[in-house]
Amino acid sequence: MERDCFIGFGAASLLRERMIDSSDKTVQLVCSNCGTLAVDDKIKKKIACPLCESTKIEEVEMSYAFKLLLDEMKSIGIYPKLKLQERG
Ligand SMILES: [Zn+2]
Repeated sequence: MERDCFIGFGAASLLRERMIDSSDKTVQLVCSNCGTLAVDDKIKKKIACPLCESTKIEEVEMSYAFKLLLDEMKSIGIYPKLKLQERG
């Protein structure tokens, strides 16, 4: 059983390292209220959600390819939302 735990942890760690850390890792702002990508408005000096205008914003590490996928889905009318939870 301990061996299986090490294998499971190693597989998850390897996937994270190859797909995010040594790849195109980016930190995006996500609204924790509705799950959409938030906007950092440099002119108004305000970080807020474009949909619900909430200021409960979290920084989320993701690959830039995933962010592009979310943007392309929005361009065809599908609005993806992310469910955030604490890292365990
Ligand atoms: Zn929101």
